[in-house]
Amino acid sequence: MKHELPKLAYEYNALEPFIDEQTMRIHHTKHHQAYVDKLNAALEGHSELQKQTVEELVKNINRIPENLRTAIRNHGGGHLNHSFFWHLLKKNNGAKPTRNVGDGIVSAFSSFDNFKKLFSETANARFGSGWAWLVSNEGHLEIASTANQDNPISEKKIPIMGIDVWEHAYYLKYQNRRAEYVDAFFNVINWEQVEKNFEHAKKR
Ligand code: MN
Repeated sequence: MKHELPKLAYEYNALEPFIDEQTMRIHHTKHHQAYVDKLNAALEGHSELQKQTVEELVKNINRIPENLRTAIRNHGGGHLNHSFFWHLLKKNNGAKPTRNVGDGIVSAFSSFDNFKKLFSETANARFGSGWAWLVSNEGHLEIASTANQDNPISEKKIPIMGIDVWEHAYYLKYQNRRAEYVDAFFNVINWEQVEKNFEHAKKR
């Protein structure tokens, strides 16, 4: 089984002006495609690993043979993280989360505004390339951060929401102004998908 680049459920310009069309196109067709291609290349000839989903590979990264581990961690992680990220994006007209995840955020972080502040600080503080996440840690909502293409699932934390803070995610429009990109990101969070991720996490 070869891993494949998933199609986006929306147009590359759907998130304008918050995330620009050119960034979305390059991010999906070049960066994400490269993770898929390099993951497939790393798995070539390893039929037992080729049978696993990318989530299984990344979740059990420490059980991957050492000579393949770094490639699968980086490119499998890249494929997993971006596949997750695209579903999180939809213009929300400034909406805040409601329903169960909205309640969960308020209960874990006192208020949505406090959650937004803490999440943004974590995203802005990630040195170099990586991600900031809202995760479920044994049912508790927490903010986390990973370097490079690591995913919290390798530490048994289930991602609910996350932001890519690699420069390739924002540099064309925001240059060095990561904080502006992080602020803009709150206009393109698909809270319905976040709700689904939250509910799904409870069943695992
Ligand atoms: Mn990226």
